[in-house]
Amino acid sequence: MNKPGLLIVISGPSGTGKGTVCKALLDRNDFWISVSSTTRRPRVGEVNGESYYFLSKEEFLDKISENDFLEYAEVYGNYYGTPKSKVIEMIESGEDVILEIDIQGALKVKENYPNGVFIFILPPSMEELKKRITNRGTETEESLMTRFKCAYKEINYLSKYNYAVVNDEVEDAVNKIESIILAEKCRVDRIKSTILDSKEGLIHEQLYD
Ligand code: ADP
Ligand code: 5GP
Repeated sequence: MNKPGLLIVISGPSGTGKGTVCKALLDRNDFWISVSSTTRRPRVGEVNGESYYFLSKEEFLDKISENDFLEYAEVYGNYYGTPKSKVIEMIESGEDVILEIDIQGALKVKENYPNGVFIFILPPSMEELKKRITNRGTETEESLMTRFKCAYKEINYLSKYNYAVVNDEVEDAVNKIESIILAEKCRVDRIKSTILDSKEGLIHEQLYD
């Protein structure tokens, strides 16, 4: 049996740079990122099945009733959800799995998977956050204000997470996340047993699932 992979949850307010940081993290590492489902309309350039699975509200509600989601939440008026079976399959097969989800979703995952690694991405300042959401150019004025106001409340949930990473420079943020993941893999309380191979004299570790 493979060692199970880590469940790494990257979360934080809209516009802090979660998507940007995750993309850079995946360019440098062999992690598996979960593709969520959403009822939000696709933005220019977004591809169904890559950015998200874009569903109608009815399709999304069907999936809720079929218990298909590890977690789901209503975020800024749309539903977003993480597919359950695929994420569990990947972790069990030994892949390190990244979830890029909002704070409500992260807290739900934490209830069921306290062994996950919960990382909160912070902007360098609220002024910079506003600039980033505005410059991204994807939101209406109303949606921009909703996201910005929510960010003030969402930062209060930082204490529920294991790690805080300020996304000032993308490369620094990615370096920090890589260090967190490496340290988490070395944690003694993640090791169920160490087996000494009597022939080879090698140490094998078995991780908790
Ligand atoms: P989120 O996924 O958290 O909503 P995005 O990754 O879409 O945020 O980033 C929001 C905007 O900020 C994007 O236009 C992105 O290019 C920009 N951005 C992300 N990280 C940085 C950074 N470290 N410095 C400057 N701009 C950034
Ligand atoms: P956006 O509309 O900007 O792509 O995403 C809005 C928010 O929804 C972001 O904070 C993003 O992280 C979050 N999100 C994306 N997928 C999921 C998901 O599967 N579950 C939850 N709870 N939030 C998600």
